[in-house]
Amino acid sequence: MARVICFLLSILTGAAVAQTRVYRFPPEGPQDSRTEAFEVGVVGPADTPQAARNYIEAADWFTLPPANFALPPYHREALEGLRVCLDPGHGGDMDRAGYKRGATGYRESVMNLEVATMLREFLEASGVEVVLTRDGDYETPDDGSLEWRARLADREDCDLFISLHHNWSRRSTANYLSIWYHSRPDDPMAAVDLARWVTLELNDLMRLSEPQHAGLYSSWLMYPPDGLADERRFDTVERQPSGFGVLRNARVPAILIEGSFYSNAWEELRLMDREYLRREAWGIYLGILDYIWTGIPSISLHESQPEVVEGPRPEIRLTLDDGMHEGWARNAPPRIHFDTLRVYIDDERATLRYRPQIAEIFATPREDLAPGEHTLRLRVLNVWGNWSWPTQIPFTVE
Ligand SMILES: [Zn+2]
Repeated sequence: MARVICFLLSILTGAAVAQTRVYRFPPEGPQDSRTEAFEVGVVGPADTPQAARNYIEAADWFTLPPANFALPPYHREALEGLRVCLDPGHGGDMDRAGYKRGATGYRESVMNLEVATMLREFLEASGVEVVLTRDGDYETPDDGSLEWRARLADREDCDLFISLHHNWSRRSTANYLSIWYHSRPDDPMAAVDLARWVTLELNDLMRLSEPQHAGLYSSWLMYPPDGLADERRFDTVERQPSGFGVLRNARVPAILIEGSFYSNAWEELRLMDREYLRREAWGIYLGILDYIWTGIPSISLHESQPEVVEGPRPEIRLTLDDGMHEGWARNAPPRIHFDTLRVYIDDERATLRYRPQIAEIFATPREDLAPGEHTLRLRVLNVWGNWSWPTQIPFTVE
């Protein structure tokens, strides 16, 4: 940024600009003790060496970049103990003529299973426990019901659900990555967070021919229920029979990946190459790693806070964790976007007192609470852009 500013200044004022620039931090003006002017020496544009220019001009975005499958040094620290449900789409459809097949007859269910198997290997190498909805070419129980697949993640106590598919289009040149989540964008966003990280990694590794279409798609927005109500509650959305069944029925953060288009003859050829499928599995692995490593913030009852409180306006003490791994910054206040911090008591927003230095929140209901059971719902966003997972804490007013 400094370099850009200096460059712009030199354009605007020509040769009169001195070689040494003085910068101020932060740019908005004095806010703390770091606002003393400091010198950064000579900064400015330089000629790109010929060799670098050749490299830049020769590079073609559509050439596959290297994928060396080297696990980053922090992979175990990040992922150990995570439970992931992988759902290779379809299966057991050998006898269905033309069903989910490319031009040469290559079946989607087969490539989905290959990717799932390779992804499981990467994840298990990082200490992740993986549950597969199928591990062979057969229909899942319950006549291959999507609900059965999605609920497996819940039954098996998984943290994430990832459905693996490849796409088909009448337009034979179509070829882009689409990652689907179920909720509306303003609902709890954990699935969108996961989808975002996986999209960035996969899009970079696959280099599909239509990167302009790659991105995040909501199955709920694309296929909304009839008589779309102006109802903003997440649990109501889940009950609506809309969007993809496999996402709608999930009870954990869930995404569906349409890796690329097997209806594109050129892409179908690539998908027949195991190394290419391994690259896809690697991209998904890296996306999961990015997501978990950048941290999932959380809010919980403070250890001194009893679950039974005195009414009618209890002040409830909560602990905030940004979920981030940069441990040396632990003594700093949590790295969250404060404006996103929400505490609801029985669906009413609570009044908050935030003590960042001790990472604590004190929440008070705006109106008197009747004796009996009540519920806290909490959410917050960390500075990596990850939302807390939907959290509900029951408590009792005496
Ligand atoms: Zn599919």
